[in-house]
Amino acid sequence: MDISQRIAEITGRIKQSAQASGRPENAVSLVAVSKVQPEERIQAALDAGQRVFGENRVQEAQNRWAARRANYRDLCLHLIGPLQTNKAEDAVDLFDVIETVDRPKLVQALAALARAGHKLPRLLVQVNTGEEPQKSGVIPGDLPALLDLCTREGLTIEGLMCIPPENEEPALHFALLAKLAKRHRLGVLSMGMSGDFETAVRLGATHVRVGSALFGDRVAPP
Ligand SMILES: *Cc1c(COP(=O)(O)O)cnc(C)c1O
Repeated sequence: MDISQRIAEITGRIKQSAQASGRPENAVSLVAVSKVQPEERIQAALDAGQRVFGENRVQEAQNRWAARRANYRDLCLHLIGPLQTNKAEDAVDLFDVIETVDRPKLVQALAALARAGHKLPRLLVQVNTGEEPQKSGVIPGDLPALLDLCTREGLTIEGLMCIPPENEEPALHFALLAKLAKRHRLGVLSMGMSGDFETAVRLGATHVRVGSALFGDRVAPP
């Protein structure tokens, strides 16, 4: 299968899962995770009409996308990897959505950029639903305080994102994320990857982040 066929196939599965759970078939947006993928695969996705892409590193995303923006004005770039405060300004200026707001220091850095005149991207908070020590994201117990801080700093948070632990049933984590979003009246839910996006859609995902199922296995950059 080529990439345009894979996009069609995955989009079809997303629509079916949405309909099967009583949601509108266009309720879910496919974020094509293009990190570490060779250039020709990205171009094939663009040629097939895909416009929403996810990257996990600011520098790599700048190299790949900054110049392309002029040709693809309807691009929508999501940052899905951890953000260091010293990269916050570059991230704010490149991305349309930052999915990985996860700590007070980053909230304050983003608020300072807004005060300095930068237009902020749409923002999601990453939740470490499995409370894994090595993983970024705010733990569920600290989410209310982080959201309060965002409010005080004038940041609008639109939703939540999670990456479930590798060896656990992802549905439990998706359900937890959905419950937290509902409790805080947040409408956007970024959850589900290549292996589990249909489950995520059934549990309310508005964005699924799909990499290898769409582009093939990631290959090391030359
Ligand atoms: C790499 C990555 C994905 C995509 O993973 P696949 O299993 O290749 O679909 C999704 N979300 C995040 C945060 C990632 O880093």
